[in-house]
Amino acid sequence: MKRLAILGSTGSIGQSTLSIVEQFPERYQVVSLAAGRNLDEAFAQAVRWRPKLISLATEELAGELSAKLKQAGVTGIEVVYGTQGTVACSTLPEADFVVSAIVGVAGLEATHAAILAGKPVGLANKECMVAAGEILTRAARQRNVPILPIDSEHNAVHQCLRVGAHSEVKTIWLTASGGPFRQLPLDQFAAITPEQALKHPTWVMGRRITIDSATMLNKGLEVIEACRLFDVTAAQVRVMVHPQSTVHSLVEYVDGSILAQISVTDMRLPILYALAYPERPASTLTFDLAALSHLDFEPPDFERFPCLRLAFDAAEKGGAHCIALNAADEVAVEAFLDRRIPFTGIPRTIERVLASTPEAHPATIAEVLAADREARETARALLA
Ligand code: MG
Repeated sequence: MKRLAILGSTGSIGQSTLSIVEQFPERYQVVSLAAGRNLDEAFAQAVRWRPKLISLATEELAGELSAKLKQAGVTGIEVVYGTQGTVACSTLPEADFVVSAIVGVAGLEATHAAILAGKPVGLANKECMVAAGEILTRAARQRNVPILPIDSEHNAVHQCLRVGAHSEVKTIWLTASGGPFRQLPLDQFAAITPEQALKHPTWVMGRRITIDSATMLNKGLEVIEACRLFDVTAAQVRVMVHPQSTVHSLVEYVDGSILAQISVTDMRLPILYALAYPERPASTLTFDLAALSHLDFEPPDFERFPCLRLAFDAAEKGGAHCIALNAADEVAVEAFLDRRIPFTGIPRTIERVLASTPEAHPATIAEVLAADREARETARALLA
């Protein structure tokens, strides 16, 4: 029996994780949940899963949840809040495995604390790896703690890497759907509206990640994530546009063999893989091979997607540049969704923030968070 701490339990990855727990009650049990701001969902999860510990974003929300649980006659669940609460969830002595699925750098401290506590982590939060990948992977190596990627591309790469040695890897190929503007003429990019950008062709996701898919900045973050997770250089990672999103990613070995991972477009599969690793439990997530009759691959157009070029540059420089890329993008995406800047203003903002970012390598989580705040302030000042 694996006892799980789920950080970001009310989000889409958190809910998918709970549906896996529901399907495999003989394998998994929930011991702590970090739920954020969705009080109703947190209450429903507390009642359904009876964790030892549940954390909410603020003291006020925690108080409301405690009152609701008491009213419902539910006892034995400790309610905590804030970053300390999330850390308490991720380091709970009873937890054997931590699913890190809080969006943004909010989950960073809890993820780091889980690794320091020696707990294997299933990582769905790519910002953690982008902003603090150097620190997290160093800590994980020192303590021999596995970090299992839940991001579909990295999960695919993890699977493909199991058949060869690290020294035999030539190139990691990350596939990208190309988003909704893969074929839009370049001169129309400035007029793209938030409504158009929020329509993703293959995946249903949160707002920021959907915009990041449209600019391909998301793929850029994944390039950085791949460098850190798999200990390869930016030159060893390449992106291939694959509109069907059927091949989740590939690994090319030095002998010329290329291995691909193919499966349904359903996040429950990478979650199950991470939870069960190194086992492979039987599941109902089957894939219809006939769907392979039509697979397209094309190299990405860096002129159309300047965010991708910026990300490769940041991946090479590492440290503060990766932090600034992520932070500046988040601020720029917000401004785009508020109609304060055009779609093409997103890469322009990031580029300007990166130009004023020093080449530095924060050594602690506190330094990472400080660099993150600084980059956000620079971006906001630029957009004001
Ligand atoms: Mg992905």
